[in-house]
Amino acid sequence: MTDELLMMRIDDDNYDEFRDPLKALCAGFPGAYWRALEDKPADQRYPSEFVDALMESGFLGALIPEEFDGAGLSLRIAAIILETIHSTSCNAGAAIGQMYLSDILVRHGSDAQKQKYLGAIAAGEVRFLASAVTETETGDDLAPMTTSAAKTGDVYVVNGAKQWVNNALNSDLMLLLARTSTGTPENPTAGLTAFLVDMKTALKSGMSGQAIDSMNNDGASDLVLDGLELPLDAVIGEVGKGYEYYRELAQLECILYAACATGDSAFFSERAITYANERVVFGRPIAYNQGIQFPISKAYVEVQGAKLIASKAAAVYDSGKQPGPLASMAKHMACEAAWQMADACFTTHGGFAFAREYDIERKWRDARVMQMTPQGRTALLTDIAVNDLGMPQSI
Ligand SMILES: Cc1cc2nc3c(=O)[nH]c(=O)nc-3n(C[C@H](O)[C@H](O)[C@H](O)COP(=O)(O)OP(=O)(O)OC[C@H]3O[C@@H](n4cnc5c(N)ncnc54)[C@H](O)[C@@H]3O)c2cc1C
Repeated sequence: MTDELLMMRIDDDNYDEFRDPLKALCAGFPGAYWRALEDKPADQRYPSEFVDALMESGFLGALIPEEFDGAGLSLRIAAIILETIHSTSCNAGAAIGQMYLSDILVRHGSDAQKQKYLGAIAAGEVRFLASAVTETETGDDLAPMTTSAAKTGDVYVVNGAKQWVNNALNSDLMLLLARTSTGTPENPTAGLTAFLVDMKTALKSGMSGQAIDSMNNDGASDLVLDGLELPLDAVIGEVGKGYEYYRELAQLECILYAACATGDSAFFSERAITYANERVVFGRPIAYNQGIQFPISKAYVEVQGAKLIASKAAAVYDSGKQPGPLASMAKHMACEAAWQMADACFTTHGGFAFAREYDIERKWRDARVMQMTPQGRTALLTDIAVNDLGMPQSI
């Protein structure tokens, strides 16, 4: 007889109270909704109705502690929420920031910042969806960051430019990393400071933004910061500690994006298996062919491994410790597995994978971008090499 415990799939956990309402919500935003958005100009592609529905659902306040009127749920459950969204036709990219960016305020924000914003973020009344780090010369490597914030009287004056900032033009708040002093040869990322930017005020004076016409509907924008004045209390935590806070936030980010990737894998495997069972070629469903089965099986194995590591990383985080390279492993494994499953799904669908109405090519693009951002392969593998394997820091 089958040993049920041995055969138990790790996604058989009983989280239906979260999965069922989310699946119902996402059913209201089928592939046709997302495809119609992609037909619009770049600055009109933001999935406002979907984000509104998620904000109203309360799911995005999962991680904000109860003392700040959030749901105070575990990271494991937050991951289930994102995995479920991505297992449907939907993509959480336009809303995911709301779930984790406020962690920097919970850990390092002033009492005034916490009181003013956390409850409102948890309730979905204030949108904290954007974080601005990347610049022309600053991607994987943050040391060359040049956007500067100079303390002048009772304000910081910010000058520079940020690129690829997701949801910047649709968010009330933005986390900004800017240089308040130069780094040192030993520590080139020293001198970066985290700021909380009120976007409505900033976009009226000192900041302008332009939506990027990209292959993914991530609402990414280029921002120009030209004499943007930020009040002194816009600093999050200590001046010059921005990079440390960002690395800390990245661990949470990695675990949540790993969940998005395993959700995408579920979408691809479900679509691939359904299609393989229905599509008859050479007189029988293609699902009988091992050439079709094995790529799906192989990707499935990788997905299961990724889910175990991601669950472990979330458990470490939920115990109050920093998961460190475990979070990088989770994101790396989950994103590689999703890409593998996307490819298997593509192969299974043959030429029809290219037809937009199947949504395979759209989700395939979504899976690809997650291998690179946030925290791409280089950053993840370096973290594992240096901080887990003890190899020298090369970048
Ligand atoms: C859709 C989208 C959304 C984004 N959203 C945001 C956002 O909200 N906020 C934000 O700040 N940024 C955002 N980004 C930017 C993203 O984080 C960066 O693109 C990413 O960090 C990579 O930086 P880069 O493009 O400058 O690549 P580079 O750093 O220039 O690297 C180029 C390539 O070389 C590889 N590479 C670099 N160094 C090494 C090495 N030592 N060994 C091997 N390979 C190496 C990299 O992996 C990469 O493939 C977004 C990007 C995209 C495409």
